[in-house]
Amino acid sequence: PVRVRFCPSPTGNPHVGLVRTALFNWAFARHHGGTLVFRIEDTDAARDSEESYTQLLDAMRWLGFDWDEGPEVGGPHAPYRQSQRMDLYREVAEKLLEAGHAYRCYCTAEELEERRETARKAGRPSGYDGKCRTLTAEQIAGYEAEGRASIVRFRMPDEPITFTDLVRGELTFAPENVTDYGIVRANGAPLYTLVNPVDDALMEITHVLRGEDLLSSTPRQIALYRALAEIGVGGGTVPSFGHLPYVMGEGNKKLSKRDPQASLNLYRERGFLPEGLLNYLSLLGWSLSSDRDVFPLEEMVEAFDISAVNANPARFDLKKAEAINADHIRLLDVKAFIERCEPWLSAPHAPWAPEAFDAAAFEALAPLAQTRLTVLSDITPNVDFLFLAEPVADEASWTKAMKPGADALLASVRTRLAEADWDAETLKAAVLAAGEEHGLKLGKAQAPLRVAVTGRTVGLPLFESLEVLGRERTLARVDAALS
Ligand code: GLU
Repeated sequence: PVRVRFCPSPTGNPHVGLVRTALFNWAFARHHGGTLVFRIEDTDAARDSEESYTQLLDAMRWLGFDWDEGPEVGGPHAPYRQSQRMDLYREVAEKLLEAGHAYRCYCTAEELEERRETARKAGRPSGYDGKCRTLTAEQIAGYEAEGRASIVRFRMPDEPITFTDLVRGELTFAPENVTDYGIVRANGAPLYTLVNPVDDALMEITHVLRGEDLLSSTPRQIALYRALAEIGVGGGTVPSFGHLPYVMGEGNKKLSKRDPQASLNLYRERGFLPEGLLNYLSLLGWSLSSDRDVFPLEEMVEAFDISAVNANPARFDLKKAEAINADHIRLLDVKAFIERCEPWLSAPHAPWAPEAFDAAAFEALAPLAQTRLTVLSDITPNVDFLFLAEPVADEASWTKAMKPGADALLASVRTRLAEADWDAETLKAAVLAAGEEHGLKLGKAQAPLRVAVTGRTVGLPLFESLEVLGRERTLARVDAALS
């Protein structure tokens, strides 16, 4: 059975790289009818925060992911927060020491740095040189008597490590490039290098899908899994690994967590649909077909194949993300679209008084808005003219539309509107006629009217908007503009 895990550390805000990893793991699990384990890697008290943990869970729920084991749902390997599993890791570290798979290392940071520097100058690999691998009981006693602190270091095998990456194919790491590494700090705190593979072993993870940045730790982890199997920790199988390509941002630099474009909250606040964002993120390294970029998640699940993931870096393209999101907005049925707009029709997003909102008026214009939005937050400025007592005062729009002669034009528009039947078609004919009188085509003829009524030069189709706004309010706004 397939068992995969999503195991973020709760540091900072969730970012798109993390979401892409979650998505690929989720799709892989669902495609294979497997189990998705959600584990929280919060062993770094200095960097992890409860706030970030809460945000992570909230983000996962907002995105629509479900998990089979983990926070809130429990499971046979609970607890799923590593901060609650510390004793277990210490026990494993003891067992590794006893079996000789790990040893105490007394080298100080300065000593290590000095030797690294010497190695570098001599053009030798600068990983740990193995000094404490073979300490005698006497040497150890000497260090202890000196009061030296020691970390626990894992003993790497002396042979190369080869594995077949699900994305990149066969990879081999030479021993001189993958040296013995720390697994427990001097203060007794177990490190990521230990707890991540230990939990993968205990939780019987079969496939590890994660970012390319972790590729260099894979040979170390494989050696550790083998040692764990030998000492009877976990189910004894080494998982398969697939490393997802880097995501590149502006200027072809790796998209960093700190990049504003990388923040998931940004997309939520702008009103991306979760399905639109996930659709876009699925394309960072994978594709459904060469001619279809827009598809529902179910289709991704059905087609997902980790071996089809591309090893080359993927480029994050905001414009494309927006275009895909816009398509997902169009795919909603109108009722669903109206519901999704709700958060943007009240405080804190909407500037009008709650009692001024008129659902029927909104619903009348919703279908026109649906075909024009890129993100849901765009709905607010498109309909605010319906619910504000006065249209927004947008200086740039006024200057642009109220050119010399605009008053005369607007006055004759007003005369015609006052007498017209109040439906979009008749209103349009009235404005056309007024325009003709002034030698203007429809576009120019309607510009001052649009700004007088909505406050802006761009917006939803004007005559439908006027029909919904009503004669009385329309004329009052034109009068206010003329006065
Ligand atoms: N907690 C690790 C991280 O967030 C997980 C890495 C892994 O998937 O092994 O980078």
